[in-house]
Amino acid sequence: MDEDHAGTMIQAEGLSKRYGRTQALAGVDFSVPAGTILGLLGPNGAGKTTAVRILTTLARPDSGRATVAGIDVVAHPQRVRRHIGVAGQEATLDPLLTGRQNLLIIGELSGMGRAASRTRAAELLEEFDLAQAADRVSKGYSGGMRRRLDIAASLMTRPPVLFLDEPTTGLDPTGRQRTWDAIGALRKEGVTVLLTTQYLEEADALADRIVVVDHGAVIAEGTAQELKAASGTAHVELTLTEPHPGAVDAITPLVNGPVHTGEDPRHLSASVEATSGLASALVRALDEAGAMVDNIEVRRPSLDDVFLALTGTHTPDTDGGPAPRHAGADHDLEVRA
Ligand code: ATP
Repeated sequence: MDEDHAGTMIQAEGLSKRYGRTQALAGVDFSVPAGTILGLLGPNGAGKTTAVRILTTLARPDSGRATVAGIDVVAHPQRVRRHIGVAGQEATLDPLLTGRQNLLIIGELSGMGRAASRTRAAELLEEFDLAQAADRVSKGYSGGMRRRLDIAASLMTRPPVLFLDEPTTGLDPTGRQRTWDAIGALRKEGVTVLLTTQYLEEADALADRIVVVDHGAVIAEGTAQELKAASGTAHVELTLTEPHPGAVDAITPLVNGPVHTGEDPRHLSASVEATSGLASALVRALDEAGAMVDNIEVRRPSLDDVFLALTGTHTPDTDGGPAPRHAGADHDLEVRA
């Protein structure tokens, strides 16, 4: 490992790649500190897979530079390959072999030796919740089980860096949750992970940091919290038991900007800073003015709001279908630090 890069396991600097007339990547920078999970989040065609293909030495960048474990991916692809695991396509699995046999073959082909392979396979089958099904042919596994076996296979040789390309696309909610649990457990192994996903909840649940890509460029980055905070303020919606003339004045000092009244004069809404205790402060202020609150809701921006604001695209539903693009959406929001 290159000493200069100790602490940073994946580094991409100005990566560009064009396929014919499509600029798949247009100068992408990011880095992943050792032992952390980076979520590379973006809609279909954003360039996520292209970035992974370059970092895993399957494609060459037109320009820019990338290192994995401190090793240049263009200059030393074979050395890079010795440090990485790649999962997501289930390409390594033989459906006619059992889960355990699939892992043992990989171990033995990698020169781990029989005994070490058996130990590692048993450990991974346990860790990925596959011990019960270990000796059944993998053809009969559910989608979630196959994904977990695929990730386990990529970890047989204990690579320090793991690439997971859309590991839960197309899985049902249970399969997705169990795959998330397995990925979360990778922290124990100290593996550095680059995870690509179209699902905000997935990035939110698993990633230490998130890089949002769209049209081949990084459009935002930060923790899930930072991205949410940058997408705008929270909102309060409240309903009084009956209209009250002093209600607007009572809550104005506690909110940002004007208080809006709805068609139903009992409804009030405003932008707020979502601090703890805000809802009770609002209720108290209204109470003192003699207005009774029927319902109050403080809505923080979700990552879905962030994604929509940044890319003009809703994240796909959990059925794995493609997300519709929304015409005329705001592409100008810039939250990049
Ligand atoms: P998805 O979620 O659909 O996999 P992605 O973010 O991984 O999307 P990429 O697969 O990297 O996106 O594709 C980025 C762009 O480059 C797309 O417009 C795609 O059609 C194009 N592209 C990718 N690979 C090739 C290729 N081998 N030949 C031609 N065009 C390609």
